[in-house]
Amino acid sequence: MPELPEVETTLRGISKEILNKEIRSFVCRDGKLRWPIPKNMASFLKNKTFVSAIRRGKYIILYLDKGAILIHLGMSGKLRVFKGTVAPKKHEHWDICFKDGWILRYTDTRKFGALLSTKSDPFAHKLIKFLGPEPLGNSFNGDYLFKKSRKRTLPIKSFIMDSKVVTGVGNIYANEALFMAGIRPTKKSGVISKSKYEDLSAAISLTLKEAIEAGGTTLKDYSNADEAPGYFKKELKVYDRGGEACLNCKKKLKEIRQSNRATVYCVNCQN
Ligand SMILES: [Zn+2]
Repeated sequence: MPELPEVETTLRGISKEILNKEIRSFVCRDGKLRWPIPKNMASFLKNKTFVSAIRRGKYIILYLDKGAILIHLGMSGKLRVFKGTVAPKKHEHWDICFKDGWILRYTDTRKFGALLSTKSDPFAHKLIKFLGPEPLGNSFNGDYLFKKSRKRTLPIKSFIMDSKVVTGVGNIYANEALFMAGIRPTKKSGVISKSKYEDLSAAISLTLKEAIEAGGTTLKDYSNADEAPGYFKKELKVYDRGGEACLNCKKKLKEIRQSNRATVYCVNCQN
């Protein structure tokens, strides 16, 4: 599943070939994604130009002169850009075609992704406006998490995966950051100290930054006519390593389920 680093890497990988170019057409082969693609998407985009592109949480926002489109990759969505004519394969649901011959193509086997439009400020859109601060932004720090968590009883892992608390921290990086900060994922968020929250906010930023850097090596794969790049491999210390040895203390890592998601931690290193 694409997490924040994949979304950021995708955005960087496609930006160069889609900005400041006039759009010739939008081709929809299957509009039944998580929400239906708006019926007027073709007329909304025709002859327009993307003037800038940003990521907010796990959403890609492509700004037009007026309005914007929002893209979410869902569980299995991928984007790529290429020049020329390449017959679409199964699961390649839509294309945005530019007048200079380049195409932005979306693939999604599980169809939980989204493509939506807005005529006004995308930050006022109902999917965006309630999102918490960016984990790599200036307003995200230990003090913020500490204040936000007082009197909260939910487990710390669920707390940092709540997009209203901080946006874009998915299951993989929640596991990794809690290991790095030495905090047990089941601990109640309201009893964790301010200094531990400082460790945790730093761990979240660092794990995401490292993954984005690792993904940077795959940037060239985003302009490939045949296939979108796979999600890149990350060096993970606990996620998907249940039952294996802790890299710190060699004790066996424990795996449990929290909110139906896999949680892996070290009973010795995380308290
Ligand atoms: Zn350990």
